[in-house]
Amino acid sequence: MKKEIILIESRDAAFRDLVLETPVGRKLSTCMQCGICAGSCPVSHEMDYNPRQLVRMVQLGLKKEVLNSNTIWICTTCFSCSVRCPRGIRPTELMETLKPIAIAEGVKNKNERFDGVFSDVVRKNGRASEFLLISKYSLKEPEMIKQAPFGLSLFSKGKLPLTIDKMENTRELDTVFKLGEKAEKKESKEIRETGTKKEKEEPETQETDK
Ligand code: SF4
Ligand code: SF4
Repeated sequence: MKKEIILIESRDAAFRDLVLETPVGRKLSTCMQCGICAGSCPVSHEMDYNPRQLVRMVQLGLKKEVLNSNTIWICTTCFSCSVRCPRGIRPTELMETLKPIAIAEGVKNKNERFDGVFSDVVRKNGRASEFLLISKYSLKEPEMIKQAPFGLSLFSKGKLPLTIDKMENTRELDTVFKLGEKAEKKESKEIRETGTKKEKEEPETQETDK
């Protein structure tokens, strides 16, 4: 995957401090870049930056690159990296910490869109229907048209059922989602407020960087 050259000027001390002060962030400075997390990650080949790189980028405060990377959305939260890290760093939780920051910053990319479609389908049906996922995501992501021949081939072999296996009672699930949304809004608001506060303090923080 082609990557842009990262300029050192893109460092954002306020973002770095915001993440480093979270429960998972406090250990990030102990990362020794051994790469065990990256080597353990089953989906690192799909990521813009693997977990080792992401940890280093957070240490450097590379806000734009971190928040716009597909890494935080591609992570399957399998916990392999967190279980194996010799320094007890939990990259899995780092991904989950970065997501609300990206949302609060209004970051949009196709991985974030897929996340939204997946949540919507599960919320309404209680289960992930492949047919609904593909059809709804295709409406949001024009590039999905390239997958049409593959989809038709699956359909012709009976591997893509059109029936939707819906849960009988989705009301309780909806309540769980509503609670999650409420918590997410609160978290995003706090992040925005903390971020603004830190941006105001930034000149002082940058002084200490030199
Ligand atoms: S396994 Fe832990 S110490 Fe090693 S690179 Fe990953 S986060 Fe850093
Ligand atoms: S939790 Fe995420 S980053 Fe860590 S190994 Fe699994 S997929 Fe990779």
